[in-house]
Amino acid sequence: MSDYVIPVPAVATIPVASGGSFPVRRVYCIGRNYAAHAIEMGHDPDREAPFFFQKNPNNLDASGQFPYPPHTSDVHHEAELTVVLKSGGTNIPVEKALDHVYGYALSLDMTRRDLQGEMKKAGRPWEIGKAFERSAPIGPIHTVSEVGHLGSGAITLKVNGDLRQEGDLNQLIWKTPEMISYLSEYFELAAGDVIMTGTPSGVGPVVKGDVMEMEVAGLGSLTVTVI
Ligand code: MN
Repeated sequence: MSDYVIPVPAVATIPVASGGSFPVRRVYCIGRNYAAHAIEMGHDPDREAPFFFQKNPNNLDASGQFPYPPHTSDVHHEAELTVVLKSGGTNIPVEKALDHVYGYALSLDMTRRDLQGEMKKAGRPWEIGKAFERSAPIGPIHTVSEVGHLGSGAITLKVNGDLRQEGDLNQLIWKTPEMISYLSEYFELAAGDVIMTGTPSGVGPVVKGDVMEMEVAGLGSLTVTVI
């Protein structure tokens, strides 16, 4: 018998395409990692040190539905490649970083842009704009043994069939191995950690009933309906 004094919260998981569930420990998200998106958000696209924020493991949602969240009238889609780790550590060299990757998935960093904007203006943390319930729709994980490592390839998002976001993974300012290495200098990475790698340009609002369809070359598609 355990001595937990309340029921143990469920472990957040992501389905794996080839079978099984990936348990999630932490969710790191990188900001402004495609030059064209940095420009559209009013920032200099020059390569400065990357910055990160976090979502909660149980913000991940593989249901294919995104409930329109409260206290906002400007929820944006951000289509992002997600990297998941099977191991970690600290001070991981760039050339060893990909050894820690278990697989890749399609994901959406859904953002209450109006609330994020208010927090930015006030110099406050972004959680209220980023880390809300079901704010990270995600597709199944494709393992490295199935799909290899993804350094290039189209990343797109359509809303109701109209192309809204378009980029290529080769446009990432900070590449996957660099992100892992950099994070590991500041945090101890571990199996179960998830990294959302940033979004290409073309972010914009959705409304109830919209159907978002994301694709990454080599990883298939993710369809999410706003409910
Ligand atoms: Mn993002």
